[in-house]
Amino acid sequence: MDGYAVRIPEVVCLGASLTLSGIFYYLYRKSRKTVERLDEAPHFTIDGKLKNILKEIPGACLQYAVIEGAVQPVGEPLTSHFQKEIVGVLQKIMLKQQRLVWNGLSSTWTDSELVLHQRVNAVPFVLVGSDETTVKVLCPLQASGVHMEITHEKFHQLNYGLGDIVGQYLSGEKIKGQLETEEMLKVGATLTGVGELILDTDGTLNLRPPSNSTQYFLGNMDFDTLRQDQENVAVWWKALTITSALVGAMVVLWVGRRYYYHLKAQWQREQERREFERWQADVAGAEAPQDAAEERVENPCVICLNQPRNCILLDCGHVCCCHTCQRALPRRQCPICRQDISRVMPLYHV
Ligand SMILES: [Zn+2]
Ligand SMILES: [Zn+2]
Repeated sequence: MDGYAVRIPEVVCLGASLTLSGIFYYLYRKSRKTVERLDEAPHFTIDGKLKNILKEIPGACLQYAVIEGAVQPVGEPLTSHFQKEIVGVLQKIMLKQQRLVWNGLSSTWTDSELVLHQRVNAVPFVLVGSDETTVKVLCPLQASGVHMEITHEKFHQLNYGLGDIVGQYLSGEKIKGQLETEEMLKVGATLTGVGELILDTDGTLNLRPPSNSTQYFLGNMDFDTLRQDQENVAVWWKALTITSALVGAMVVLWVGRRYYYHLKAQWQREQERREFERWQADVAGAEAPQDAAEERVENPCVICLNQPRNCILLDCGHVCCCHTCQRALPRRQCPICRQDISRVMPLYHV
């Protein structure tokens, strides 16, 4: 590849698109697998028969199963800090600072949030079915899909003096105020759980994160919605994989196109060189060798001032240099008018 090199931006683009498509493909496969596992998972209703079903399975354990039931605390439930009548089993209290940050690129103020404080409380809870059978939910905070209900939301506005406002414009950051929220998983809420279902030796039923690292779900939507959400995630990763792979393919095509033009130019130069060699051999054969060597060249090449002008540069048509100097030009441009040289022809004197 004489004189041809892949440029740094091309290498960077190709490397980045290959890496990203690899990562996106891995995430796509992972989410696709989750959807497949969800499709394969058996559904059970929480009732007296569930224990008997599990007893018949070796190890009294189902690696991935779907159950649905109402939330009940095992002991004392958690009480909302703001509405005493609301009780739940999971509670998340958050204090966020809301601010506007100056974006120099778009010349606008954009919203931004900063979590100042967050606390999660949990008490042990079970899912209750149609009869009094219960399934204890273990490690609920490890599960995805838990959407808790907002039980309190209050915005504390900040008041500013003139000095503060000037300061904000100078620093490019305006603090709007603080948002205090409380979210709870209420007692009595219906929950869909997907995880490992196991019958303990003491006779209690437990739902826990699967030991084979499949995703653990606890959601207050029905199973079909939960599955559809996962399907949408997989579609997104697939679209991103295809996009970054296409970018990579475009970079390869671009590099290939450049290499093709490089080879074509090299081939053309080689053809011209051969044409001149043939022509020089013809001239040498026709003239007496001592005359040619001793003859003082009239109107010589503008570059070496020594050889006769023996080529026509196209498309400009200038006859200004010898073929040796033309080939030594740093760029394929006419030394007189700077026009690009598309072809070089030998000049025939008759
Ligand atoms: Zn010359
Ligand atoms: Zn010219």
